[in-house]
Amino acid sequence: MLKLQGKPVYKGVAVGSIVVLKGTDAPVKRSKVQDAQAEIARVDAAIKTAQEQLQRLYDKALKEVGEASAALFEVHQMMLEDDDYVDSIHNMIETEQVNAEYAVSVTGDNFSAMFANMDDEYMQARSADIKDISGRLVRVLDGSADIDWESMDAAIIVADDLSPSETVQMDKTKILAFVTVHGSTNSHTAILARMMNIPALIGVPMDLETIHSGDKAVVDGFAGEVILEPTEEECVKAEAKIKEEQEKVQLLQALRGKETVTRDGRAIKLYANIGSVGDVGYVLENDAAGIGLFRSEFLYLGRNNFPTEEEQFQAYKQVLQTMAGKKVIIRTLDIGADKQVDYFNLGNEDNPAMGYRAIRICLTQPDIFKTQLRALLRAAVYGNLSVMYPMIISVEEVDQIQAIVKQVEAGLIAEQIPYKLPEQGIMIETPAAVMISEELAEKVDFFSIGTNDLTQYTLAIDRQNEKLDTFYNPYHKAILKMIKIVVDSAHKHGKWAGICGELGADPKLTEEFVRMGVDELSVAPSMVLRLRKAIREM
Ligand code: PEP
Ligand code: MG
Repeated sequence: MLKLQGKPVYKGVAVGSIVVLKGTDAPVKRSKVQDAQAEIARVDAAIKTAQEQLQRLYDKALKEVGEASAALFEVHQMMLEDDDYVDSIHNMIETEQVNAEYAVSVTGDNFSAMFANMDDEYMQARSADIKDISGRLVRVLDGSADIDWESMDAAIIVADDLSPSETVQMDKTKILAFVTVHGSTNSHTAILARMMNIPALIGVPMDLETIHSGDKAVVDGFAGEVILEPTEEECVKAEAKIKEEQEKVQLLQALRGKETVTRDGRAIKLYANIGSVGDVGYVLENDAAGIGLFRSEFLYLGRNNFPTEEEQFQAYKQVLQTMAGKKVIIRTLDIGADKQVDYFNLGNEDNPAMGYRAIRICLTQPDIFKTQLRALLRAAVYGNLSVMYPMIISVEEVDQIQAIVKQVEAGLIAEQIPYKLPEQGIMIETPAAVMISEELAEKVDFFSIGTNDLTQYTLAIDRQNEKLDTFYNPYHKAILKMIKIVVDSAHKHGKWAGICGELGADPKLTEEFVRMGVDELSVAPSMVLRLRKAIREM
């Protein structure tokens, strides 16, 4: 038995078997080999295994999402057979007497760079595919083969760290808890864990070499600890805590269908945050009055090319139809910073959080933006849609956005495609936007305050930097004062203002927010009924 402390991200308890996820970004080690031919044989066997994996993925995707999406796996199979690629790996092993993993990794990097530098856009896009197939081969070679989500039992996922694109691809029904060595409490992976209602601990000093898939563990998000190889007594205790939590959640069910209104009659719009179409189930389950933040960039993560207008349209339409007339606020693409996608070719930056991200990408690469806007305007016909734009710092940006929306609208009119112009708002998540919130309020329909980034930029604390978690004070007076300024600016111009950052879900602040005049709170689905209870008792 070994007890380790970490920082809780979502308070819940889990008991079960561990699955250790090996990081896909870990550098591959170079070592000398005596028998190059045996190493080459390992590569050939790994290619065969990877082909079989891809065939299974192809068959699954064909059944679930159709030919167009499945075709990617066919392309990957073909790439794995490419003579130039395979010869290059063989050649490196023979001439340099290196291990198979290293030869695959270096060849993958070389080919990927070569494709990225080609003029043809299609070929450039293959750069990410090469990285993908090489990563798959390395994982097969070093025995950290992909998890077969379909056949595995629900487990506690243990990893060094998790990126948002890794997390978003996981089958949520198979995750009992997350435990990671690194990560910060304000990262998007932490946000995803909260959204999925999954007990999660980060910053746990584990030695992943000594932890094995199949080992048993208890994760206690309340105590902030993980117990490896727990005793029978500890398991029984944990099971009792799980039951207690379930009973509390059960009690909250009585609030389903009730209004979110204070005792003196102030109604608050209580919405939920989501990251994928599949999350709408949690919204309905927890009886949120709407969706206050759909992080649409998650549609762009965990894939190798841009989602098409049609794919996006179908996703947005499905969310709107399922919400059946309830408000759905979709935030346009907020890629960059910790949400990295190879095919955007964003390049390395010294300060990614203060870098090329969100609306900055959309305004400088308007084709990407227009595709999303077309999908949104078309989907608006199917429900109660609002659109909001992230990372705004100026009135000029809003003017530019509005000009682009007009162009998109004109295109749809010319093509006689049905559309609706949704309500449009902006996220207030930079100090600049707070300071000019009066001017901005004249231009838009609503504000949604993103306290995660607002705190990061106001306190000058990188939300990804785990060393700064102790300095990251979400209750800092500066943030609370800023929220008040924003709400007052909105109201002065007859607009509404809400909070969709994590602070909005903090029950210790709910009363203060209501007093400030906040009109809407958009929180993780699991927090909706808890906040409804607090507001109704206020
Ligand atoms: C925020 O910054 O508060 C926000 C809601 O956006 P994200 O967490 O996705 O950056
Ligand atoms: Mg943000």
